[in-house]
Amino acid sequence: MTIFSRIIAGEIPCYKIAEDDNFFAFLDINPVNWGHTLVVPKHETDYIFDLSDEELSAMTLFAKRVAKAIKAALPCRKVGVTVLGLEVPHAHIHLVPLKNEGDMDFSHKISDPDPEKMKQIAEAIRSNFE
Ligand code: AMP
Repeated sequence: MTIFSRIIAGEIPCYKIAEDDNFFAFLDINPVNWGHTLVVPKHETDYIFDLSDEELSAMTLFAKRVAKAIKAALPCRKVGVTVLGLEVPHAHIHLVPLKNEGDMDFSHKISDPDPEKMKQIAEAIRSNFE
């Protein structure tokens, strides 16, 4: 069971954003920018391009809804999309609110993000999710 499956199962706490029958979204615990969100399929698959066409399409549409909520909740020009998957072997899409290119620099993460601020950001994004 991956750490993301344990989050989905409620065994590990997270700053939850949204879920449906097949997908789950929560804040990245080591954000590159405030509002950095992960979208994951509940069905455990390591590599995103090993998902079926149907799953990948549905995941993209779910990520779109989450990105719209991020854009509505936080001041940003656009929401950037990245797939890395080098650390956690459970397919996921990174969504990061952007004001400039440097906001998506994965080699510079916010150190020790304030839990209260993370909670408030999650709530703001969650309340804009449709
Ligand atoms: P990667 O697999 O390279 O896309 O990186 C995995 C991402 O998952 C990193 O940005 C981590 O900060 C994030 N991450 C790892 N564990 C957790 C967790 N328990 N809650 C939220 N995000 C996590």
